[in-house]
Amino acid sequence: MVYADNAATTKMSEVAISTMTYLIKEAWGNPSSLYTHGQKAKEVLEKAREEIAGVIGAAPGEIFFTSGGSEADNQAIISAAKIGEKQGKKHIISSSFEHHAVLHTLEKLKKEGFEVTLLDVHENGLIDVTELESAIRPDTALVTIMYANNEIGTIQPIKEIGEICRKKNVIFHTDAVQAVGHVHIDVNKENIDMLSASAHKFNGPKGAGFLYVKKGIRLTNIIEGGAQERGKRAGTENTPAISAMAVALKEKYDKLDETSAYVKKMRDRIIDGLCKIPHSVLNGDRDRRLPGNVNFCFEGIEGESLLLLLDDRGIQASSGSACTSGSLDPSHVLLAIGRVHDVAHGSLRLSIDEEITEEDANYIIKNVTEVVEYLRGFSPVWRDLMNGKREFVL
Ligand SMILES: *Cc1c(COP(=O)(O)O)cnc(C)c1O
Repeated sequence: MVYADNAATTKMSEVAISTMTYLIKEAWGNPSSLYTHGQKAKEVLEKAREEIAGVIGAAPGEIFFTSGGSEADNQAIISAAKIGEKQGKKHIISSSFEHHAVLHTLEKLKKEGFEVTLLDVHENGLIDVTELESAIRPDTALVTIMYANNEIGTIQPIKEIGEICRKKNVIFHTDAVQAVGHVHIDVNKENIDMLSASAHKFNGPKGAGFLYVKKGIRLTNIIEGGAQERGKRAGTENTPAISAMAVALKEKYDKLDETSAYVKKMRDRIIDGLCKIPHSVLNGDRDRRLPGNVNFCFEGIEGESLLLLLDDRGIQASSGSACTSGSLDPSHVLLAIGRVHDVAHGSLRLSIDEEITEEDANYIIKNVTEVVEYLRGFSPVWRDLMNGKREFVL
């Protein structure tokens, strides 16, 4: 079996599993309790905070634990909106291919009178920083642009975006859920004010994540209750999961240079192989993408059928994002980079990690090629394309 859907979720690492099971047994106390057992849990929690902060160049006091990436995105955006509102600023800039955790939060804010500008994402899967600069207005409260896209893997010019935001005195948040643990990040060097991350995207457990918030930016609670996380996020902390998140992250960064070089090599081998399929296209810039991301559109087929047949052959991949599968609408990301509906329907995302072997990569190329050809064999759309009743787009 080849698991090639790491952008949807990753398998927990051995060290994360052993840390978590150990702590479930040994540090189950409430970190807010003053007796020894509670204090032990508190220590574990604060050690995790220090480790995570260290990895992204932040201070421990700038890390807030959340239930994952979605919560971190919600809290970051709502907090920046509230800060802006107090200063009479009710304009937010984002991009058209963000994760729904961002887009749906922005929809909610629109109902509260905020104005949202969604920047175009060009065919290469990147925004244009000069377009960003000219979109910033005196009443812009926040720029929220994802670090790396979850479908096509493109990595935005984060440092430049941050620089513009600093110059214009606008808060810059980035949904870095796909990037943390996969590329080097330094929040200070990259001028990032807020950053969201999720443990299950870097071999940590599900239901744990964090929000980095630059000192001086005031968070708004979205969960009210106890005084956990310096009063900014109520709820008894999931100490074992948080600690497992920290060890998983540390392990990723300890070997990142080595693994990402290897993963990139396998990614490029797969891209080269799949490029040979006629009437296909790689989605997103070839180089400015996550080490493990491959995303293609194949004309004349349905992504869902492709997935099911690949699953039969032991390859687990994705078409569109997990959140949109089950709906008939093609991916908003592929539409955002200009793919027409028919073509966007025939998409395949392979997100690989360092466990992939060369044989796996070859197996993927061979099977995707065969299945695409097989499906085209009885596709009415493909027949029309071949008969000239329809024009090829790719
Ligand atoms: C997975 C993902 C999220 C959501 O994270 P959860 O921890 O599953 O809530 C948000 N943004 C991006 C880019 C993601 O890939």
